[in-house]
Amino acid sequence: MPEYDLIIRNGSIVDGTGAPARAGDIGVTGDRIEAVGDVLGTAKREIDARGLAVAPGFIDVHSHDDAAVIRDPRVDFKIMQGVTTDIAGNCGAGVAPANDDFRLFYERGFAPILGETELPWSTTAEYFAAVDAAHPACNVAAYVPQGVVRYNVLGQRKGPPDDAEMAQMQALLEEAMQAGAIGMSTGLVYVPGTYAQTPELIECAKTVAKYGGIYTSHIRNESTGVLGAVAEAIEIGERSGCPVQISHHKSAGAPAYGLTKQSLPFLAAARARGIDVTVDVYPYVASSSGLAAMFRTGREEAFAATPAIIASVKYNHEKYEGRYMSDIASEMDLPIGDAIRKLLHDEENSPSVIMFIMDEDDVRRVVVDDHSMIGSDGLPSGGKPHPRLYGTMARVLEKYVREEGVLTLEEAVRKMTSLPARKHLLKDRGVLQPGAFADIVVFNPETIADIATYTDPRQYPTGIEHVIVNGAVTVDGGRQTDARAGRMLRRA
Ligand SMILES: [Zn+2]
Repeated sequence: MPEYDLIIRNGSIVDGTGAPARAGDIGVTGDRIEAVGDVLGTAKREIDARGLAVAPGFIDVHSHDDAAVIRDPRVDFKIMQGVTTDIAGNCGAGVAPANDDFRLFYERGFAPILGETELPWSTTAEYFAAVDAAHPACNVAAYVPQGVVRYNVLGQRKGPPDDAEMAQMQALLEEAMQAGAIGMSTGLVYVPGTYAQTPELIECAKTVAKYGGIYTSHIRNESTGVLGAVAEAIEIGERSGCPVQISHHKSAGAPAYGLTKQSLPFLAAARARGIDVTVDVYPYVASSSGLAAMFRTGREEAFAATPAIIASVKYNHEKYEGRYMSDIASEMDLPIGDAIRKLLHDEENSPSVIMFIMDEDDVRRVVVDDHSMIGSDGLPSGGKPHPRLYGTMARVLEKYVREEGVLTLEEAVRKMTSLPARKHLLKDRGVLQPGAFADIVVFNPETIADIATYTDPRQYPTGIEHVIVNGAVTVDGGRQTDARAGRMLRRA
């Protein structure tokens, strides 16, 4: 009789591929799954999963935990929602490569999204080594962020790079891809990514394509210009040879409501032409980002028209965290635009904000699309973050599977596991089958729920019973253990 390290017995196995759930056991030895089905034999530890779903650990394809996995390696906000792999480096924002100019910029440029960190590394390889050394509780894979690369070479400059500068950018991209980055991300509404025009991005993406990496983009316009911005991302993929991922796909602002009815067929048409293009999405009608970036992109009227909540500040105005910007403006006795300018000035551009700018019909349409995957876009920057940091995966299973019935459990799990694993080149992850890594989540589909709220976001979902990372029991009976078995996943 074989002896395993761990057997999970009598669960309803949702294997990640979209296949119908079936009753069975999972046998784990070391960091791998050895048997799936009727598992005979004994184990050092057995988990009784009767009445529970057993799925591959969730992959958060859109994380901003670049600094958090080192600063706070328990990453409880991800582990406790069943996430076993975090994909960082999104939206052109990140922490490597880092020269002195970038180190100076980081604090006011990216800290509102990623949180505070020192940047003791220079290269992407050194940053990846620092992640390994921190022993995070979840696995980490990362994009090389084009905004970071651009800042290292061009600083705040708006114009295109000359040939020598382009060669420097490509050298940084080469180094990152050789270190194991999974591709390149852009954030075309943020400084400095917004200064990069299409030809520059195509040239950069060509370097990434040489290594089989993917191009992922927070596109230039997510509002009434969303279709043109999607077209730009597809063009960059097509002309560079990179597969494409559109980040947190949405159509934001009342005049743009309903545009996902056009963008999703547009993406399907590109796929029919042979382009590998997919999207990620978070299941909420509110967005979140740096207040300075949101205000700068012409949203002054939007702030007057839609509710906005201050999520985090760095210095003296903690009393504003979790409160509506309109109430803060009344308290300051200022028009909302002036109140925002004052807050940005007093807080040195550090605040982050939550804005209710989406229509639920658009969100649902993207969530249920066959080619979307789930990414939290959670911002681990302190204060009262958007609840998506804690609740994204549970919310999909609660709302779209159990309450609305617009996704099957198997299909929702596929969007969190095998679909992202295949797209993001994560070998032997995202499925429950013999030989795969033992990244597993055991949850109760009848009770799983996102209980984080906009005013009280730091709450773990209910219904997540056990989380296994590389064979290590990291959540046991609903509580996080001391296990820190995550790894830096370098591109296969
Ligand atoms: Zn973004």
